[in-house]
Amino acid sequence: MRRRRQIDCLYSVITERDVQAIVQRAIRAIKEKVPELQVIADVCLCEYTDHGHCGVIRRETGDVDNDATLELLAREAVSHARAGADIVAPSDMMDGRVGAIRHALDTAGFSDTAILSYAAKFAGPFYGPFRDAAESTPQFGDRRSYQMDAGNADEALREVMLDIEEGADMVMVKPAGPFLDIIHRVKHETGYPVAAYQVSGEFAMIRAAAERGWIDCERVMMDSLLAIRRAGADVIITYFARDAARLLADAR
Ligand SMILES: [Zn+2]
Repeated sequence: MRRRRQIDCLYSVITERDVQAIVQRAIRAIKEKVPELQVIADVCLCEYTDHGHCGVIRRETGDVDNDATLELLAREAVSHARAGADIVAPSDMMDGRVGAIRHALDTAGFSDTAILSYAAKFAGPFYGPFRDAAESTPQFGDRRSYQMDAGNADEALREVMLDIEEGADMVMVKPAGPFLDIIHRVKHETGYPVAAYQVSGEFAMIRAAAERGWIDCERVMMDSLLAIRRAGADVIITYFARDAARLLADAR
């Protein structure tokens, strides 16, 4: 209850500056130009922290302060919804964030805004190219304390179930290719809409090998996406989106 009250007062102090920030302006611009396009806004703190971690860091211990982070995530999600996002996607992996965001959205009058939770997000080496481009490598430590251990499939299923109980409308598995078994289990065991994120390392390996002439880029791209789809993903997030969409449209 105490946490809920704090979140109530925080979402209500969303300022003009919050809704004029760069992501919120981009959402509004997209919705103005292409209103039929569904906009999914990533909700996390790592793009806004100088240390690159996904949450608020306690100065005394250097650990992530889960509850302090929830309040900021809820506020961020409401500001995205207010800008026009159809779906908000918390990618931080803090405990309780889906419930906190759902409560804040409902209270702020955005009960139609859906939540796509990064439910099974595994720590690991496949994020490398993105981290370099976004300069989001943590300045100290790593994200293993709040992302999942790749060897533990049952833990992934438990995290997914928790997010669904807290009100997630769709759940995500990330990365996609190395975790096809998890995509399959999540789809099979929950029946929920599943999104899978083909991350920058998966993309870069295919592109780099194709540039060397070792593989056929288009065919390997489509096979990699087909495998993710076959495993059970309803939605695929991929850097190949435009190329794949063009090929699929041509094939029709
Ligand atoms: Zn993050």
